[in-house]
Amino acid sequence: MNDCPFCLIASGEIPCDIIYGDERVVVFADIQPRAPVHLLCAPREHKGSVLEADVSLVGHIFAVIAERHEEWGLAEGFRVVTNCGDNGRQTVGHLHFHVLGGRQLSAGFC
Ligand code: 5GP
Ligand code: ZN
Repeated sequence: MNDCPFCLIASGEIPCDIIYGDERVVVFADIQPRAPVHLLCAPREHKGSVLEADVSLVGHIFAVIAERHEEWGLAEGFRVVTNCGDNGRQTVGHLHFHVLGGRQLSAGFC
């Protein structure tokens, strides 16, 4: 049984407001937002982290973000983050990119 939360969101088994979806990726709001706009962009296919992603998938994700960011309220700028592994504080083992904005973000990265 696949109990990966983001696989279940992508397949519709966990109800979630998908604000963008195509054949490869879904975008939805983070359940615990750290900024006025805090979205997660995840592949439909399970990938454990960015270490399992290929260039085409990562390029597609960034193309979706670039194409859609204005309608998501991010015209003034945004930050894209992907956490990987224990030191990176990855808590969900399904690749996702945080897309953060809606205010000026802090200067630090860590
Ligand atoms: P990570 O720490 O792995 O980089 O980020 C995981 C993110 O997923 C966290 O910001 C957390 O709030 C979010 N999250 C965890 N479970 C769910 C869920 O079931 N639904 C949504 N929308 N977000 C989730
Ligand atoms: Zn998954």
